[in-house]
Amino acid sequence: MKDKTKGKPSKNKTIINQCKINDFKVMIKETLDAIGKVLDQRNLDLKTWGEKEQDEFYMIFGSKGERILDIDMPIRGVSDIHKITAREVMQDCIRRLTWIKNQLTLDSFVNLIYDPDNPSDSTNSTLSRAAGTPKTFAAFVKPSQQTDFKVYIGINFTGRINDRNVRTCGAVMGIDSRVATLCHELSHFEKNFVDPTSGGMGTLDYESDGSKPLPNQDNSSYEGHLAGADKLVRSGDKNVFNNAYNIERYFQIEV
Ligand SMILES: [Zn+2]
Repeated sequence: MKDKTKGKPSKNKTIINQCKINDFKVMIKETLDAIGKVLDQRNLDLKTWGEKEQDEFYMIFGSKGERILDIDMPIRGVSDIHKITAREVMQDCIRRLTWIKNQLTLDSFVNLIYDPDNPSDSTNSTLSRAAGTPKTFAAFVKPSQQTDFKVYIGINFTGRINDRNVRTCGAVMGIDSRVATLCHELSHFEKNFVDPTSGGMGTLDYESDGSKPLPNQDNSSYEGHLAGADKLVRSGDKNVFNNAYNIERYFQIEV
């Protein structure tokens, strides 16, 4: 999941109505077109691999492209560690995200948009919500899905409440954009149970102290997850390539 909302102030909230998304399918179509361009650009960057691309990679991940990583490619649940360079891991990441993206249709996206500040807003979804679904979030997936992938979309996907307590209009590409959020979510899908060369990356949401989350636990706020990702980069931790909050940073470009 990206963006659990904890401890957000609720007073003096101003809503900019023109930033509300009135057509869910148009918003998704726009995001799918944009993610294709971003993935293509990053694929090209990893192929070009000049000084500029290598420096940028190091800035984002805190690891150089030639660093050797131990990547688990479990077959039917049995661990199988492969030695792969960081650059190859991200090339593989793009291959996986592109493969999933090409299977997504507008119907793969489940509209769970709800604005608690405007409970009767016409843009609020009328779909029933499973127990435990937070009121506001950006997006989440069920990582164990192997086919017929679904992405659940919440109101923060359209735009977040900023530090002045205003719900802003989210960008399609760039930092904390819809494309970055979608890359984050698609990276969560697990590798295929039978053929680990297929499926997603199986990333996790590392905690605010940079530690690996325990199964089915998430004890950090959105800001905490960002701090955790920063910490992993600063310390040159190999787990950046297993943390969805780090992976999405490679896809924050505007093309
Ligand atoms: Zn996540």
